[in-house]
Amino acid sequence: MTKLKVQILKKDSSYPILIERGLLGRLDEIKEFEGYSQIGILSDHNIPDLFLDKVYKSLKKINSKVTKIIITPGETNKNLNTINEIYQKLSDISFDRKSLLVCLGGGVVGDMGGFVASTYMRGIDLVQIPTTLLAHVDSSVGGKTGFDFDNKKNLIGTFYQPKMVIIDLMVLTTLPRREFLQGYAEVLKYALICDKDFWEFLKENNNILINPKHPEFFDKVRQVIYKCCQIKSDIVTRDEEEKGGERKLLNFGHTYGHAIESYSLNTDNPLFHGEAVAIGMLYSARISKEAGLSDLEIDEIKAVIESYELPIEFNFGTNSNLSDINKKLDKLMRNDKKNINGKISWILLKKIGSAKLKQ
Ligand code: ADP
Ligand code: ZN
Repeated sequence: MTKLKVQILKKDSSYPILIERGLLGRLDEIKEFEGYSQIGILSDHNIPDLFLDKVYKSLKKINSKVTKIIITPGETNKNLNTINEIYQKLSDISFDRKSLLVCLGGGVVGDMGGFVASTYMRGIDLVQIPTTLLAHVDSSVGGKTGFDFDNKKNLIGTFYQPKMVIIDLMVLTTLPRREFLQGYAEVLKYALICDKDFWEFLKENNNILINPKHPEFFDKVRQVIYKCCQIKSDIVTRDEEEKGGERKLLNFGHTYGHAIESYSLNTDNPLFHGEAVAIGMLYSARISKEAGLSDLEIDEIKAVIESYELPIEFNFGTNSNLSDINKKLDKLMRNDKKNINGKISWILLKKIGSAKLKQ
């Protein structure tokens, strides 16, 4: 079993990330699950029954009180109503301070479950079992929780570290293709901002990594997820709760990416988050020439993004008004939570594997 210990600055908040194929059916072998008054499994209707059954059955072997809490999937349900539903359910089944909440799902389940765990009775134990590649490489580390409010993404939230993160690579085999591939945008992001060797690895192994049927898939993807969690953990540990600037580097591709993502949601061609990040990364690479990035490197970045079957530009349609679109995108970028004093912050690449912040 690949085990990574994530050390966050604050005492008592370090936790292991277990990465292996077939873990979901063997949770009873993991000692961290022992000793709880009861266990709740939060998941959504789209998570294959097979996974939920495995988690339920293996936890049932070590705790007689295990309850499934199933919510409606999707970003549109990532709101206070759903949070309310989860609180109500926990209250109905008399969840107490010694109970454990397990989140089995993608970013939506993980963010909302994390928020509930961080606030219910001032905080109960939480285990995250992310089921999307995006969640594996993005939300396994950092402890961000939250939900959307007033049409603003993740407006309400907390930082709350789980007791453990469990990544069963099997879950990648049932992910819809676009959902799976979008995770690679965040993977490429890590390599671009700080690890040239990792970039070379991703360049060489793209065929295996996008093909879950390839005999070497699980071995390679395990290395990728491990590496991403490690990079993020190193950055986050040095910059907990975003006080310094280093964590901002993780925002590479997200300034333009978030804007184009929001823009696309009101068109017939809505982008997934990772797809928007892929477009945003190439955009940032193009304006990174002033920071030192070469034309050759920009071409290489474009080719690698495309080799992961990710988009490199948004199709605005033929009869669209470009100056109007530019105004909208500019406005969206100026509203970014990460800006300071209204100045847009950009992460630029000095070269592949090295990034810097520019206001
Ligand atoms: P993320 O924010 O990590 O992309 P979401 O929570 O939005 O993830 O999940 C995207 C969709 O994919 C949801 O409908 C979810 O139920 C579904 N899903 C998540 N994991 C899996 C999986 N392993 N297999 C099939 N569908 C999944
Ligand atoms: Zn992202």
